[in-house]
Amino acid sequence: SFPRRRGLPEKRKIRDVNKVIAVSSAKGGVGKSTVAVNLALSLARRGIRTGILDTDIFGPSIPTLLNLSGEPRLDENNCLLPLTNYGLKSMSMGYLLPQAEATPDSFGNLPMDTTPISWRGLMVTKAMHQLLHSVSWGPLDVLVLDLPPGTGDVQLTINQEVVVDGAVIVTTPQDIALRDAVRGYGMFRKMDVPVLGMVRNMAYFACPNCGHETKIFSHNSSSSSSTHDENDWGVLAECRRHGIDFLGDIPLDARVCEDADRGMPTVVAEEGDDSSARRRAFLAIA
Ligand code: ADP
Repeated sequence: SFPRRRGLPEKRKIRDVNKVIAVSSAKGGVGKSTVAVNLALSLARRGIRTGILDTDIFGPSIPTLLNLSGEPRLDENNCLLPLTNYGLKSMSMGYLLPQAEATPDSFGNLPMDTTPISWRGLMVTKAMHQLLHSVSWGPLDVLVLDLPPGTGDVQLTINQEVVVDGAVIVTTPQDIALRDAVRGYGMFRKMDVPVLGMVRNMAYFACPNCGHETKIFSHNSSSSSSTHDENDWGVLAECRRHGIDFLGDIPLDARVCEDADRGMPTVVAEEGDDSSARRRAFLAIA
C-alpha cells in the first residue's frame, strides 16, 4: 500500500457520507468537471442523495456549472452548509473566495472573475482540510469529488486524509491525454483506491446537420500506420490491457459546452428528452 508519512492524520470517512467517488483526469481541459457534474446530477435524478465537492482550489468550476454563488451559511457546529441547485448539494472554494469587484468596462461588459489565487502551501492545505472535514452534508449516499487535474499534492492529501471508495478517470482519445490517464490509474492503484472505470470524453463529433460522426481526437489522426489502430492502442485497448472497466463515450457537442457555460448541465437541460444522445451518454455512465 501507499507509504504513509509520519505525523499525518489517519484516513477517515467524510462525515454523513456513505460513498465517495473521485472524478479525476491527468490533464486539464479534457472535460473532467463537466463529466463530474453530469454524473452527480444523473445520480441525483435517480433519487440517490448526492453531493459534489469541488476540490480544485485554483480553478473551481462547479459554481459556474451549477449556476451558484454566494457565501455558504454555517450550522450550529460552525460547519459549512452546502449550496444546492437541481437537487444536487455542492461545496466549492469558489463560494469561499472573495468575489472580484465587478466594475463594467467602457463597453459595459463585466470582467471575468479575476480573484488572484496565489496561495502558499499551508493555506491550500488548510482550505482543503476545511472542504473535506467541515461541511455539513446531511446524510448523503454518494459524494462526488471533482479532483484537480494531475497527480499532485492535493490528490495525495485527499487520498491520505479521507476514504475514497472509487475513482473515475476521464480522458480524451488523444495519445498524450490517454498516456497520462494510464499514469493516473497507477496512482490510484498505489493508494489502494479502486478504479471504477474510464470515460472517453469528446470521443467523436456528431454533425448536427448531417449526423456524420467524426473522430476529431483520434489517437491515430497523424499517422497512416496500421500498427497503431484501436486494436492495440487507444482507450479501449488500454482498458483491456489494465483490466479497467470502460464506462462509455461522451460526444464532442457544442450543446454540452453551452449548457455548461450557462450553468445548466446537459442532464438537467435536456431532462426528459430521450432522443438526446449526449444526455443518454451521461446517464449511461452513472
Ligand atoms: P476539466 O475539468 O477537465 O478542466 P471542463 O469540464 O472544465 O474540463 O471542460 C473544458 C471545456 O470543454 C469547457 O468549456 C467545457 O464546456 C468543454 N467540454 C467538456 N466536455 C465537452 C463535450 N463533450 N463537448 C463539448 N464541450 C465540452
